[in-house]
Amino acid sequence: MAAFSFTREKINEGELRKQLQDPAAGGYASFEGWVRNHNEGLPVRHLEYEAFEPLAIKEGERIVAEAIKRFGIEHAACVHRIGDLAIGEMAVWVGVSARHRAEAFQACRYIIDEVKHRVPIWKKEHYENGDSGWVNCERCAAPTTGDADHSRHAHSHEHHSPALAATHAHIGAPVPDYSRQMALKEVGAAGQAKLRSSRVLVVGCGGLGVPVISYLAGAGIGRLGLVDSDSLEPSNLHRQTMYALADVGKLKAELAAERVRALNPDVDVRPYTTHLDALNAPDLIAQHDLVIDCTDNFTTKFLLNDYCVRLGKPVVFASVYQYEGQLQIVQPGSACLRCVWPEATRDGIVGNCSEAGVLGPVPGIFGGLQAFEAMKLLLDLPGQLKDELLVLDLLTLSTSRVRTKRASACPEHAISRAVAAGHAASGAQASTAPVELEFDTLDQAHDAGFDIVDIREPHELQQTPTPSTHARHLPMAQLLHGQPPFEPTRKTVLLCATGKRSFAATQELRNRGIADVYSLRGGVKALQARLFT
Ligand SMILES: [Zn+2]
Repeated sequence: MAAFSFTREKINEGELRKQLQDPAAGGYASFEGWVRNHNEGLPVRHLEYEAFEPLAIKEGERIVAEAIKRFGIEHAACVHRIGDLAIGEMAVWVGVSARHRAEAFQACRYIIDEVKHRVPIWKKEHYENGDSGWVNCERCAAPTTGDADHSRHAHSHEHHSPALAATHAHIGAPVPDYSRQMALKEVGAAGQAKLRSSRVLVVGCGGLGVPVISYLAGAGIGRLGLVDSDSLEPSNLHRQTMYALADVGKLKAELAAERVRALNPDVDVRPYTTHLDALNAPDLIAQHDLVIDCTDNFTTKFLLNDYCVRLGKPVVFASVYQYEGQLQIVQPGSACLRCVWPEATRDGIVGNCSEAGVLGPVPGIFGGLQAFEAMKLLLDLPGQLKDELLVLDLLTLSTSRVRTKRASACPEHAISRAVAAGHAASGAQASTAPVELEFDTLDQAHDAGFDIVDIREPHELQQTPTPSTHARHLPMAQLLHGQPPFEPTRKTVLLCATGKRSFAATQELRNRGIADVYSLRGGVKALQARLFT
């Protein structure tokens, strides 16, 4: 007989008992679970059981095999009913034959307890009042509620056992139920706990962001940071189907946060109605475990790339163009966007949705892929996209995978190496000069004989110009490409938004033998702060 099986027919315990008979066995123990007529004070009329059968049978067989090995018994089997059951009917049967009664009892008890904990079976209760609700069997079997329909547990139930989430889908307010994803053995309670403890930053709440946000919220990610400074436009709705026409004009980050709260109150959602820039990016990225780029502009993509490489955070990129798109994951040790695109693509070279046109499902599909890759990373599932760029053409449904390689000339990777080396060597290496200097104003630095080089990106200077007429502008990538185009014998102080990039660039230049270069501590932010104090 099968060690573990499901049946839609009435369980015939007499027949099953016969099959376990063995002249060598001196004892037989069985357990029968029956459908009870009440649960948590509600009268129950009848029940439905549903199981994810392929997985459930595998797990059930494993449990019976464990019991046989563990207690040294002769034979054991378990049969569980599925489908519709009436009050009083047998829902589950366990039988064990063994040489001695003690092992028979113990093994029987072990099997029913483990089945309750580990096998993906759901129960739908139909109450006298006409309501019904799915409840998970671990919960309905918990002894504390005193309403178990058919099992008797003595030991306590751990909610983080590899079982399904205990949920009450109907009684009182509905609560999130992750049982359908936890039924996957790769997820389980441990995976769910991982998702719950994860913090994910989604940059962009548009066509890519909508599926990413929906699926991650549904999955029960602990914290979702949503960055978008745009307001909803009517032309967005064909692909951004999480929003409503009545929401036009409202900020998308706020709207998305509202949707997340409605979908899953477990998620700590934090909207940031701002444009991601060099000033806010480092802090926002540092506060999360994983970043998902759902923007359609290359400035932001490269900004995310640069900070994520430096901070060692994985980032899932996607871009779509008309009927095709691509997916790339940058994580510690892998190639980054600048390794692949050394001549950083400028905005406007590749059209965005408003210019090129797009059908709604295209970003939907790529956003779905991003959400899935993100979950693979968080759950540590196999098959992660690494050192490859996935290109998918939805018109032909053809995919190609392009290998990506860490480029030795990549400026971002040069900086991250310098930062790492700087941190590792701090205190140990006898550095002759401090890397960072402090000045109250840039004019003070100028008066002290320093050349001043602002290494921020052009768009940052547009937002916040360099607070000095003596400064030169030279974006960091240019500064670090080849020989620095300034007089190496002169004292130079570099500045950026917060002092992080200038610190890294200074380290890198020192490594290249330029001794008299320094970083302005705290960058433009610190200068501004001093102005107001
Ligand atoms: Zn790189």
